[in-house]
Amino acid sequence: MIKKNDEFILEITDLGTNGEGIGKLTQEGEDKGYTLFVKDALIGDCVRVKVIKSKKNYGYGRLMEILTPSPFRVPAKCPVSRTCGGCQIMHLDYKEQLRFKENKVRNLLERVGKLQDFQMLPIIGMKEPYYYRNKAQFPVGKNKEGKIVMGFYAGHTHSIVDTEHCYIQHPLNEILVHKIKGWMEEYSVEPYNESTGQGLVRHVLTRIGESTGQVMVCLVINGEKIPHAQELIGILTAVEGMTSICLNINREKTNVILGDKVETLWGQPYITDYIGKIAYQISPLSFYQVNPRQTRILYETALKFAALRPGEVVWDLYCGIGTISLFLAQTASRVCGVEIVPQAIDDARSNARLNHMENVEFFVGKAEEVLPREYESNGIYADVIVVDPPRKGCDPELLECMVKMAPNRIVYVSCDPATLARDLNYLSGNGYRVEKVQCVDMFGHSVHVETVVLMSKVKE
Ligand code: SAH
Repeated sequence: MIKKNDEFILEITDLGTNGEGIGKLTQEGEDKGYTLFVKDALIGDCVRVKVIKSKKNYGYGRLMEILTPSPFRVPAKCPVSRTCGGCQIMHLDYKEQLRFKENKVRNLLERVGKLQDFQMLPIIGMKEPYYYRNKAQFPVGKNKEGKIVMGFYAGHTHSIVDTEHCYIQHPLNEILVHKIKGWMEEYSVEPYNESTGQGLVRHVLTRIGESTGQVMVCLVINGEKIPHAQELIGILTAVEGMTSICLNINREKTNVILGDKVETLWGQPYITDYIGKIAYQISPLSFYQVNPRQTRILYETALKFAALRPGEVVWDLYCGIGTISLFLAQTASRVCGVEIVPQAIDDARSNARLNHMENVEFFVGKAEEVLPREYESNGIYADVIVVDPPRKGCDPELLECMVKMAPNRIVYVSCDPATLARDLNYLSGNGYRVEKVQCVDMFGHSVHVETVVLMSKVKE
């Protein structure tokens, strides 16, 4: 039996969902195979650990000493990378990060998805894995000395790490945050306090249109309006590219960041950005990928996998502001998108008009409700179905309906390989074969990875 304070020498062979090292005890005996999770240990490290918590088959260890460092350990550029929850594996060589992500996806597809004989294309990494994020979403608070802080949450907590310089953010995000902090200090605008529910400014959200240079700032507030709004507008409009300054009202005692209501303080309620040839309007409440260069690769892969022929009809589920839908509409005869957030569908419809695309139609609602409803009552048809769900993956009712609709091809874009593997397991047991898998790294230095999968209908 493994007990608290037991010590072991451990080879780290994997990384967990939060970037923690994972090793299994190899010493012969009843505990062989026992798994330990060790924060700050890295794949390839040989470490001495002390057990801090033990369960039946697994436990958590404290890293006491690195006996042999992983050959892939590198100095992290960022001094707060270990405390900040934003990046988890900055101390792993970037090439190795990519290899880790690709292996993770392959293993899950094989073990959980029970898939074999699929073609795994080499992961597409970033040319420059720094300063890539077009969006910042910083919580605002006070430190022990009462000074205003903005930054990231420390891993697994709600204490804010004041981020002076972030190595994965577009540099302009930092300038904006700095200016807003200055305004709050000068006019004594109170940050929101999570434990008391008092105070005004909860989060600062910034977005930059990489190809247009347009800038959006949205303050999430626990109130209806802000004091000294004109002064804030004066400060922010001095920034080149400022296009939209908004307020998002969130008066709930919740850790959900955004409320439902948005008010425009200055300029437009959206910014515009291009991916490839297509222009997109983006509102504060709409989802938009954070890494524009890799997004283009991701969408091009989805389009290539869809292999549309003239006359074909596509359903794009979880379509957000119609990003993938409009990419597909360049070739498809007709594209129908479904998305749960009404404001995103407003953006999607404007985006179709903006790009003069008349062969697209958008539906607001849950994909697992809209698709079955349209199929049962209107007998809709699809040659290709594209899905791009959030981390929890597709709802079983949606997968069932997709199988009934029997499209020739399914393109699954996923940000969580575990739920992807689960859903592919269902589809592969119901008449579909996984043809190709392409991982794209959108989130360098984090453990996350985006995957595009092509499935085709098995001919009876
Ligand atoms: N394809 C888009 C958005 C992908 S993110 C893009 O690449 O930009 C996933 C989207 O699914 C989000 O916009 C989210 O609001 C939406 N969503 C979440 N649950 C949903 C559901 N049950 N039905 C439809 N859309 C949903």
